[in-house]
Amino acid sequence: MNEDLKLYNNLSREVEVFQPQNPNQVKIYTCGPTVYSTPHIGNYAAYIYWDLLVRVLKQHEWKVRRVLNITDVGHLTSDEDEGEDKLEKGARQSGSDVWSVAERHMTEFLAGFRDLELVEPEVIARATDYITEDQALVRELMVKGYTYETRDGIYFDTAKFPRYADFARLKLEQLKPGARVAVSVEKRNPTDFAVWKFIQPGEKHTMRWNFLGRPGYPGWHLECSTIIHGELGEPIDIHTGGIDHIPVHHTNEVAQSEAAFERQLSRFWIHCNFLTVEGEKISKSLGNVITLAMLGEHGFLPLDFKIWVLQGHYRSLRDFSWTSLEAAQKRRLKWRNRVAYLQQMTDNKTEENVDAMTPWSSIWHELNEDLNSPAAFATIDQLAPEQESLVLWQRIEQLFGLGLFDSSAKPGKEARRILSRRAAAREERRFDQSDQLRDELSEIGFDVLDTPQGQIWQYNK
Ligand code: AMP
Ligand code: ZN
Repeated sequence: MNEDLKLYNNLSREVEVFQPQNPNQVKIYTCGPTVYSTPHIGNYAAYIYWDLLVRVLKQHEWKVRRVLNITDVGHLTSDEDEGEDKLEKGARQSGSDVWSVAERHMTEFLAGFRDLELVEPEVIARATDYITEDQALVRELMVKGYTYETRDGIYFDTAKFPRYADFARLKLEQLKPGARVAVSVEKRNPTDFAVWKFIQPGEKHTMRWNFLGRPGYPGWHLECSTIIHGELGEPIDIHTGGIDHIPVHHTNEVAQSEAAFERQLSRFWIHCNFLTVEGEKISKSLGNVITLAMLGEHGFLPLDFKIWVLQGHYRSLRDFSWTSLEAAQKRRLKWRNRVAYLQQMTDNKTEENVDAMTPWSSIWHELNEDLNSPAAFATIDQLAPEQESLVLWQRIEQLFGLGLFDSSAKPGKEARRILSRRAAAREERRFDQSDQLRDELSEIGFDVLDTPQGQIWQYNK
């Protein structure tokens, strides 16, 4: 297991060796979903990559403390404090209230998490549970002179934080007012952002908290800084997110946290790329939103999608198509069948020292090279029969969580009865009957291989 873990750190824009500050508590924060609609496969791709990260860290025998937030307030339709709150919009469109919209989509999101066999974070933090802490952070920024007040909220003055542009290497001089969005005329700089929004008289915003003598709600970026401060403490080891978070959301997180707490927010920042569907950005208006439930309607399991995601590197742009998902499904079937085959062999080398094996070293090495799952998958595909063992496949399962050992789909009573009748038919050289039984098995989901050790069943779907 002597491998350095190398990760592309967006702070330095270089691949660096990762070492935790404390191996008993690797502190990770993952920006979570805004729970205003059913999550789509693009949202889940990110959590699949971070699942691999967590599994690799655990394989290093480091203890992980990961926090995932759930945004249930304050994320406006644009990331730059303009437009309607996404939750309020979701409630208006579905004719229900914001709290139940948030509850429903959070439950849905976490169910998908389980279906994808994603390791559950140690802490799942809802933004609305941290309002008092948000207000304390705003006060801290106010006291330190980083904010100013406008008619619609308390804004962070990015000119007061000289390193503001560093994180995303922004060219501030090119960001003329309005370059990002039509900014509030009261903003001092186009990059300034709201840490607290006031609710205007007559404005409909169900979620509201009194602060500074008026009703309001937190700015979207604030929750991540607050939750990290309360649940992990700066500096954390790794902060993850999507590349879309870099120029605004993470830039603002860094500014407000480092201004308030005077410590580095995170040592490593890793970002995954986007997923398109047949070349197009996923969007409701294009009608190409695909959910986990829709995968099921097309005959796929969430785990087929998980293997599809891991077939690509987290930093590359991925294009989803149903045909490519079929190929991933076949790969998973092939791997499940290798496990099923080995489980039925009587001469298994279970006590094997996997760490000393060449294929394991290659797989482990590839994952430590900035989570190169596609290379690791290619090595797995090329395993020669004599290199395989159940112990090795258990390791593979531990690293990827693909349900390869799932026993729920194994032959049930009926299939087992047909298998034993077929074994008897072959023994007695009744080959017509044995062929007929093979067809019956095939109809209920199993193929059969005749080997020197007898018949071995395989999944056929
Ligand atoms: P949201 O729930 O809208 O806040 O989205 C959560 C995050 O999911 C986004 O910030 C992205 O990082 C990620 N995401 C959204 N769409 C995609 C996509 N098509 N591909 C990959 N990641 C996405
Ligand atoms: Zn965040």
